[in-house]
Amino acid sequence: MAIHGENASIRLVAMGGTIAFASGQDGAEPAFDGSALARTVATDGIELEPVDLARMSSIGLRDHHLLALARLVEDTIEDGSAGVIVTHGTDTLEETAYFLALTCQWGRIPIVLTGAMRHNGDAASDGPSNLRAAVAVVRSSEAARVGPVVVMADEIHTARFVTKYHAARIAAFRSPANGPIGHVLEGEATIWYRPAYTDHLARIDGERLPRVEIVTTSLAASPDALQAVIDTVPDGLVIEGFGGGHVGPEFLDALASARHRGIPTIVTSRCADGTTLRRTYAVPGTEIDLQQRGAVMAGALSAIKARLRLAVAIAAGVPVGAAFPVQ
Ligand code: ASP
Repeated sequence: MAIHGENASIRLVAMGGTIAFASGQDGAEPAFDGSALARTVATDGIELEPVDLARMSSIGLRDHHLLALARLVEDTIEDGSAGVIVTHGTDTLEETAYFLALTCQWGRIPIVLTGAMRHNGDAASDGPSNLRAAVAVVRSSEAARVGPVVVMADEIHTARFVTKYHAARIAAFRSPANGPIGHVLEGEATIWYRPAYTDHLARIDGERLPRVEIVTTSLAASPDALQAVIDTVPDGLVIEGFGGGHVGPEFLDALASARHRGIPTIVTSRCADGTTLRRTYAVPGTEIDLQQRGAVMAGALSAIKARLRLAVAIAAGVPVGAAFPVQ
């Protein structure tokens, strides 16, 4: 059932990615702007209002692109559009979706991100079908109330949990914690349930985000890479730890130097699913010890999303202990 602004337009913000790529001389390359993307679904009677923000692989996107997109989405919310669709490379799609969840006043119109795993020169291109599915989600009655979502391969995923899980398959995206919250079938979107949480922290103005670096760990990892990052004095640090949010004891001196320099430090889990612990293990390097040393547990967020949340919290002056953990 179509509810949002029956006569209002749907804005299409084009940011590049495989959905905008086609065969070039040496391989796939950017080829479609927003108007060309809109034309791929125009034969279905779908009218989209294109805006071009970038035409590149999403590995090249930077802070200023995210911040410009968030402003554009806010403007779209204000100007009475029925919804906004962002077409984007899949490599960093989940980060942009989560950034919008953190910074935009969502809840009034649907905000839908999509992309493609096969470019327009590939006979199996999934771009047009993903774009059609995104339109179906914008037109559904519940979509405004679930926050920014990623729509890929007919599945609807929340910004918090969506993950690019497979490097190449068309069904590349999963939400390990909870699965998709809905799907698109026969041209119609169904949303089965809504998140009981909100991700929103604050609107961010300006062109840059605080610099938050991620360092991961592994069995017998030396602290050298971590210390080298700390020596650059980033605005914040995310440690992608083991299991419940743990690091080897070799990391502890480096973490003390981060604390000494006042660098807020978040600890996530390198596991694909689950939440960091808070009060189970007391061995040096485990969560009780790390919290006593000033680190903050991330909760349910992956390292790449914790990075964005910490950056937004710092930019907005939200205390780190209030922004984390995310349960
Ligand atoms: N390299 C591409 C990107 O993220 C991959 C894709 O869109 O699927 O822009």
